[in-house]
Amino acid sequence: MQKQSLLKRSTLAVAVMAAMAFVGSPAMAEVTKADILNDAKTTNDVVSFGLGTQGQRFSPATQINTKTVANLVPAWSMSFGGEKQRGQESQPVIANGKMFVTASYSRLFAVDAKTGKKLWKYEHRLPDGIMPCCDVINRGAALYGNLVIFATLDAQLVALDQDSGKVVWKEKLEDYAAGYSASAAPIIANGKLITGVSGGEFGVVGRIDARDPMTGKLLWTRPTVEGHMGYKFDASGNKMDNGISGTTNATWTGDLWKTGGAATWNGATYDPETNLIFAGTGNPAPWNSHNRPGDNLFSCSTVAIDADTGKIVWHFQGTPHDGWDFDGVNEFVSFDFKDPKTGKIVKAGGKADRNGFFFVNDRTNGKLLNAFPFVKQISWAKGFDLNTGRPMYNMENYPGDPAAGADGKKGASVFAAPSFLGGKNQMQMAYSPQTNLFYVPSNEWGMDIWNEPVSYKKGAAYLGAGFTIKALHDDYIGAMRAVDPATGKIVWENKNYAPLWGGVLTTAGGLVFYGTPEGFLKGVDAKTGKELWSFNVGTGIVAPPVTWEQDGEQMIAVAAGWGGAVPLWGGDVAKRVNYLEQGGSVWVFKLHKAK
Ligand code: CA
Ligand code: CA
Repeated sequence: MQKQSLLKRSTLAVAVMAAMAFVGSPAMAEVTKADILNDAKTTNDVVSFGLGTQGQRFSPATQINTKTVANLVPAWSMSFGGEKQRGQESQPVIANGKMFVTASYSRLFAVDAKTGKKLWKYEHRLPDGIMPCCDVINRGAALYGNLVIFATLDAQLVALDQDSGKVVWKEKLEDYAAGYSASAAPIIANGKLITGVSGGEFGVVGRIDARDPMTGKLLWTRPTVEGHMGYKFDASGNKMDNGISGTTNATWTGDLWKTGGAATWNGATYDPETNLIFAGTGNPAPWNSHNRPGDNLFSCSTVAIDADTGKIVWHFQGTPHDGWDFDGVNEFVSFDFKDPKTGKIVKAGGKADRNGFFFVNDRTNGKLLNAFPFVKQISWAKGFDLNTGRPMYNMENYPGDPAAGADGKKGASVFAAPSFLGGKNQMQMAYSPQTNLFYVPSNEWGMDIWNEPVSYKKGAAYLGAGFTIKALHDDYIGAMRAVDPATGKIVWENKNYAPLWGGVLTTAGGLVFYGTPEGFLKGVDAKTGKELWSFNVGTGIVAPPVTWEQDGEQMIAVAAGWGGAVPLWGGDVAKRVNYLEQGGSVWVFKLHKAK
């Protein structure tokens, strides 16, 4: 009895102190769970990666539209400074008049969204031994409460105070010396901070973690290689079993699952309607498929995870037993699909896979509803069987087994398309509920690829393959394509000389915005692809544009700075585009107003 009243008294005291603190300090603007759930509908902010956690990258804003877009002019630009000028793949987030944009080498800037005035910057101290596979990039930050949270190249998470830039908490994701790194933008799913890991070229084990965004404390962790145990954590941090992912040794032989890859390096999307997190997973490790018989789940897949329990609800594998580094990490975008066979609206998701096929799945259970090519040349499979959900392989397009080669050191080389950089890679597509079309930044290229013997060594590249990427056409590699998910038709396309590597934005103003490595940010008609506006930012664009309304004016923002995987891994294509210049800045545009 006495104990209870003491408890009541202390609770009251805390409540009074909290009220005093609230009265005594200026009102803090916070980003709430509701702000994030409503992000796709609200035009005054961008508080999630994807302009809504479903990832449609569609804005209802209409001030900038097909009639007014010709009057778009720069409002401001800000340099990321220093000597670290390369590979700016970040999507800015904007709340309460502030923009938060990450930059190469794990940097984060807070900027006055109206004027471009720098408010503060955070430069993460990176150790010498980091091993990012695909440049020193970062794709963006998450906002929650008064925090801005991002992942770093040495596989840490850092949460900073939005106003002061002070570090509030820091957590280690994994050991960078084992090849782990992190570059995807975290997302908030039903109040939880969701992150993945990079490192599929080093034999890491992919996984999705959920944390308390305010403290960084782990809530659950779900491995994406079949056979590994998932864990959950109670309020005191005690670790408890949360079930094995799949069944140990069902799709992997021996101990290979222990270094199986399936890195979740491009993050995840979240659908509040089903409470599912959709994580894409990368290649099984090593690349040499002859080393690992079986489907190698859950590599090259979309994995749907219950946001509350951390359990896998369904999975769909786009490239079972991958032999071409067709990471399945590309974003799974929730949308309402009118099934042409039944005429019914299905809760679906679309994904333009690196392997060249566009998949439409029922997002409640993973059932494959449609699969069609969105690039013109695919060598590894003839198509998909919608009944089984499996590819119809061209078995002769697997690179050969080195053990069958004359000297045992090199297997038979094949020419495969798409190249391992993919029909589409990390650059995010957009979906317009106005046109019912996906806008897919795609590339037409192939590769010579062969296998070599390899064994796992901690912190060393774990590929067992050699390769050279080649263009398929003299006049273009990139093609921005409007794709109809019901018919599989490409409604329009805009070819581009260099490979496209930046994401897409579409708006209720009937527009599609995207950038090119040649430096042009373009605004085109969503129905026809006709170019209505463009502006050259002076360096290649490899990031997705966003839009919001600032004090009644619609703004468009994009990070700029050539780099990413193409110059590092692109073979003949890298040589072809080596005239492109690096950079590091963010640009913002608005409609010109006569004074
Ligand atoms: Ca919003
Ligand atoms: Ca890979």
